[in-house]
Amino acid sequence: MIYLVEDEESIRELVVYTLCSTGLEARGFACAEEFWGAMRASMPSLVLLDIMLPGEDGLEILRRLREAPDTAKLPVMMLTARGTEYDKVRGLELGADDYLAKPPGMMELVARVKRLLRRSETDSEPEEYSVGGLFVSIPRRLVTVNGKEVSLTLKEFGLLAFMLKNSGIVMSRDKLLSAVWGYNYEGETRTVDTHILTLRGKLGECGQVIRTVRGVGYKAGR
Ligand code: CA
Repeated sequence: MIYLVEDEESIRELVVYTLCSTGLEARGFACAEEFWGAMRASMPSLVLLDIMLPGEDGLEILRRLREAPDTAKLPVMMLTARGTEYDKVRGLELGADDYLAKPPGMMELVARVKRLLRRSETDSEPEEYSVGGLFVSIPRRLVTVNGKEVSLTLKEFGLLAFMLKNSGIVMSRDKLLSAVWGYNYEGETRTVDTHILTLRGKLGECGQVIRTVRGVGYKAGR
């Protein structure tokens, strides 16, 4: 799934239509607020960001994505208006993976998106996990239980990925909070418990891959 944040409706619809017509999945959002709402529900594999947006702009969205541990490596392509060299430079400084001048040529857009998706798959370590009927691909952001795809929120995916990477190691709630929510998150450790509960529910019969270690925290394992 590709997310696009673009306030110009004609460009937004054209880009989404074009990506979908090449077999990719894409959703468009007119502002940052809609985008973050969708991010809380489900993570994309790539983000296309316009820079000039009403409210929070594309550079600010990019900065926030790069700051959060679970989206720090999410591929991001900036859409820049012609002649705004400064925006392009800022975007690259902030960690954008690529940029494309607007209005983008559709053939070029598709080629660049596909290249970026391929690169992010090959760049990442081959981080895939199979535990019983559970399969998790971290670079593809894919979770299946007995071959059926499971849709996880950003934090649920982050928790599962972090625990699988550290399989067999007992993780305290504080450790999980700082790893998945970030060091500055002022949440309570109860947040971890509620997320683990819904995560287990979504994983169904594979939910027990996350074990409770009484009085300490959680660990992933068979
Ligand atoms: Ca705009």
